Amino acid sequence: EELYGVNRWGAGYFSIGENGNIQIRPNHRLPDLAIDMQEVVEEIKAEGIELPAVIRFHDILRSQVEIINETFAQQIQEADYKGKYCGVFPIKVNQMREVVEEIMDAGEPYNYGLEAGSKPELMAVMAYNENPDALTILNGYKDKDYLTLALLGRQLRRKMIIVIEKYSELEMLIPLAKELGVEPMIGLRSKMMVKSAGKWAGSSGDRAKFGLSIAEILNVIERLRQEDMLHCAKLLHFHIGSQLSDIRKIKEAVSEGARLYAKLIQEGVPLEYLDIGGGLGIDYDGTSTTSDSSRNYSTEEYVADVVWGVKQVCDLEEVPHPNLVSESGRAMTAHHSCVVTNIVGEIKPASTNFDVSPSEDEHILVKNMRELHQSGDQFHPQERYNDAAGYKQNAYEAFKLGILSLQEMAKLDTMYWQILADIHQSLDKDAYVIQELEELEDMLASQYLCNFSIFQSAADTWAIGQVLPIVPISRLNEKPEVRCSIADITCDSDGKLGKYIEGTEISDNIPMHSLRKGEDYHVGLFLTGAYQDVMGDMHNLFGRLTEVHVYCHDDERGDFYIEEVVPGTSAEKVLQTMQYNTEYMAKAVKKQIDRQVRNGGLAPRAGVRWTNFYEKCLAGSTYLSVE
Ligand code: PLP
Repeated sequence: EELYGVNRWGAGYFSIGENGNIQIRPNHRLPDLAIDMQEVVEEIKAEGIELPAVIRFHDILRSQVEIINETFAQQIQEADYKGKYCGVFPIKVNQMREVVEEIMDAGEPYNYGLEAGSKPELMAVMAYNENPDALTILNGYKDKDYLTLALLGRQLRRKMIIVIEKYSELEMLIPLAKELGVEPMIGLRSKMMVKSAGKWAGSSGDRAKFGLSIAEILNVIERLRQEDMLHCAKLLHFHIGSQLSDIRKIKEAVSEGARLYAKLIQEGVPLEYLDIGGGLGIDYDGTSTTSDSSRNYSTEEYVADVVWGVKQVCDLEEVPHPNLVSESGRAMTAHHSCVVTNIVGEIKPASTNFDVSPSEDEHILVKNMRELHQSGDQFHPQERYNDAAGYKQNAYEAFKLGILSLQEMAKLDTMYWQILADIHQSLDKDAYVIQELEELEDMLASQYLCNFSIFQSAADTWAIGQVLPIVPISRLNEKPEVRCSIADITCDSDGKLGKYIEGTEISDNIPMHSLRKGEDYHVGLFLTGAYQDVMGDMHNLFGRLTEVHVYCHDDERGDFYIEEVVPGTSAEKVLQTMQYNTEYMAKAVKKQIDRQVRNGGLAPRAGVRWTNFYEKCLAGSTYLSVE
């Protein structure tokens, strides 16, 4: 657990069992109920489902919804806070219908609502948030249709709040509401002065893309007053960025937001809700620090700082406590899904088997490298390294000038890597070594080829350097002895994970177990449930993964069942989204096969087999099939 940090980023949901397999405890109310991940994978394979697959643990989703609602309820009670908590789930974080349905079901007792940030998201939340007591918060830039849909929501007696992101939206809304005779519920998004940190810091500050300055808020109020619509202003909203790693920024934002709320109340604006947006972070790297992939606070601390912070300002300003809204998405969903896949190969820099024995008329550079190769540890490691690197560079120059033959170059290269491996082995692990020798570890690390696409399944690791935990799901009671990095199967050099959790450090590579012939080596990429699940693209035409939805029986036996399997996108479907006509493609290939059959280049039976094979591949997975 220490090596891969499972106990730290696992948040109580993931741990390592005595048998060396990853265990999942998906239900926070039943901490003894543990599922063995290897058993889940065996069952998936027994059902004929090919990896890679996304596994969703729906009980984790439910647990997260319960935890945030109950934590707010508890803090509200302890603080004698007079408002309620009315949370919403922002569906942009994971729009999968099954995820939204599960969250709505788990959130029903708490009147947990939904948030939309675009017109299609609004259409989804209109259909899936039927609870008249739950909020629907509408963010993002809006056109007339967006606003009209929101007014339809009001006709349907939903608590649908249109958050004004920029002044012009108000000018569109007022005549529309009057024309349709519908009274809107209006929210005001404030552009915050607090400057947040991290990868989403641009969501706050003067140059933020969204929100109204204080002057603009006052203009909106004035305009609403003129139109006799001030009573429609119900909510003050802010959001200073996602994955807030430092609790101090959250406290600052809460204090700024609460002060603004109080001042607006004193101006006569009848606000009822204060919406603190998203930002509740996830400890992806398990360091509990202010690193971009972590957070230096717990959910309880976050909630307490919000409740007590708002209460303090409101009491000082002598205004009523508002109902509190938060739009946490990442924290609701990150833990519930993971990608399980297999390692399909290893690329080793130093493993090439090539006969390096001397031959006649060998070039002096090859001889020199051989001497160094045979010199054992009679030279200082650094001296050996410098000589080897020098010979290799000279050999490269000589090869370019046509002086070294292919065979000589191959021998020289093979010996070079063997020398580096010897040097690395001879180094005292605890002694100080110069940087070049330290880098030997990286240079000699293997690459484990992983049957998935970074661009489809872990977009943020590529786009913004996000750390996601990757862990073998079994053999965790064996010492892993192969240092490696994880490369995906796209034809793209960027298709690699660049950062790994190793103990409490972030490394450039990670120890994994050696691959055994004839035995699958399964790894899990964890905490992919927020954004990663839905933001991936089809680079190299690798499509969406097959999804497996796992539920627990409500007993303590650790029993689970696969409730649903959503097939991944077939090659055919992926090609069709790129405007290919796959029927035409199948016909075109068949025509070429038939021509060969007619010409006698192929036997008729073979022709039929090839035709069927092409069609089978079209209907099949975009990922590597491992027989
Ligand atoms: N609300 C708004 C307005 C957002 O822009 C975002 C995402 O950045 C969220 C909520 C969700 O934030 P998080 O996933 O950090 O909870």
